[in-house]
Amino acid sequence: MSKYDIIVLGSGPGGYVTAIRASQLGFKTAIVEKESLGGVCLNWGCIPTKALLKSAQVFEYLKHAEDYGLTVKDVDKDFDAVVKRSRGVADGMSKGVQFLMKKNKIDVIEGFGKLKPGKKIEVNGKDYSADHIIIATGARSRELPSLPQDGKKVIGYREAMTLPSQPKKMIVVGSGAIGVEFAYFYKSMGTEVTIVEFLPNVVPVEDEEVSKQLERSFKKSGINIMTSSEVTKVDTSGDGVKATVKTQKGEEVLEADIILSAVGIKSNIENIGLEDVGIAVDRDKILVNNYYQTNIPGYYAIGDVTPGQALAHVASAEGILCVEKIAGHHVEALDYGNIPGCTYCSPEIASVGLTEKQAKEKGYEIKIGKFPFSASGKASAGGNKDGFVKVIFDAKYGGEWLGCHMIGAGVTDMIAEAVLGRKLETTGHEVLKAVHPHPTMSEAVMEAVADAYDEVIHL
Ligand SMILES: Cc1cc2nc3c(=O)[nH]c(=O)nc-3n(C[C@H](O)[C@H](O)[C@H](O)COP(=O)(O)OP(=O)(O)OC[C@H]3O[C@@H](n4cnc5c(N)ncnc54)[C@H](O)[C@@H]3O)c2cc1C
Repeated sequence: MSKYDIIVLGSGPGGYVTAIRASQLGFKTAIVEKESLGGVCLNWGCIPTKALLKSAQVFEYLKHAEDYGLTVKDVDKDFDAVVKRSRGVADGMSKGVQFLMKKNKIDVIEGFGKLKPGKKIEVNGKDYSADHIIIATGARSRELPSLPQDGKKVIGYREAMTLPSQPKKMIVVGSGAIGVEFAYFYKSMGTEVTIVEFLPNVVPVEDEEVSKQLERSFKKSGINIMTSSEVTKVDTSGDGVKATVKTQKGEEVLEADIILSAVGIKSNIENIGLEDVGIAVDRDKILVNNYYQTNIPGYYAIGDVTPGQALAHVASAEGILCVEKIAGHHVEALDYGNIPGCTYCSPEIASVGLTEKQAKEKGYEIKIGKFPFSASGKASAGGNKDGFVKVIFDAKYGGEWLGCHMIGAGVTDMIAEAVLGRKLETTGHEVLKAVHPHPTMSEAVMEAVADAYDEVIHL
């Protein structure tokens, strides 16, 4: 039996980052993976979707070339080539993880891993043991009973990334990050898209003003949006699909070629031996403490298979913290209130901290600042005037930065400023006095903060 200090089960951004950090810390490490290295993020999530979205963005720019004084004739897309590019980018990233495993002397064990009591994992009939076993098996697309996925007409995100041909009409159920990213991609490619969202706003976890702005932008681009609506039945017996949608005004039947179900995720906890070992779960999540220890000593869990935001950077941060704690480092528990969330449709969305509604519900007396990109020189020059930066500060005690919400071009690359500012407990005045470069989209953060303190210059 092969013996390790640490074995990681699953090689997503949780698992492979954990393995690298473990190896850096001097642990003899192995990682078990049943599919491709890099997990959902690199193969079926973050990276291939961003490659698709880049094609959509370039296509949009080319279609609107005349806005920039340019003539581009016969602009068209090759859907197959767009999908192929995305798969190529994903493959390249997965190979990159393979290289990193080798570089860090991490053994890769290929196959389905099953936990056993006594800190063991069985893969392909062989047992491997370790002092510490870290479960990072991730998640998959969640299926609603009213919307069973057949992989052809009712699909999840994997199929949506590799469709053999472009649908003419698509219904996207759910308007979280995954739903709106695909809605934007397919609309840009020329598909007629309808979004059906159960809650009153699209991107429902975002600040309401951001949701409203996205709704306006999407409607302007021709995406049909049905909020406070629910798909109650689907009929796939004909050529396409018919979806019965319950709206506030009554029932409607929508027809399309394909329905994309983007209603969340379900953790991969089945058949991995949790019951044999006695590891506690709550619904589909493995229960862990602040250091990702399960109820059974020697077994840990991180990433999408545990509670907390289902995001790649969260999975990685949890894994690093988990092995640093095992190594005996003094570690600070992760602050789940300061995790940035990004959505990469156009306009992009980025946020961190409390929304205006949440801040009020928590009883804060707040100061709000807002700066629209229509007043930004860089946004005007770039032809990206849609959107804004909104900041929320505590008005009573010392100007704590409670939340930051952005919608517009490139904002996903700007949110880290707010994350760092909040981590360092920066006050509004400090942000205001930190000189931002001109002309940049990031000036909008400084101006939004200035607005909160009635010192805004360009409004
Ligand atoms: C379409 C889409 C877009 C996304 N975009 C973003 C984004 O832009 N930014 C962001 O932060 N997050 C994004 N996410 C979420 C992100 O992909 C996940 O949060 C992240 O991948 C979770 O990492 P993980 O390591 O916990 O699990 P996963 O990435 O799910 O990896 C788990 C791995 O474990 C393997 N595995 C499972 N069970 C076993 C077993 N028994 N034996 C061996 N191997 C096993 C799986 O094959 C898989 O490779 C997106 C997700 C989707 C679906």
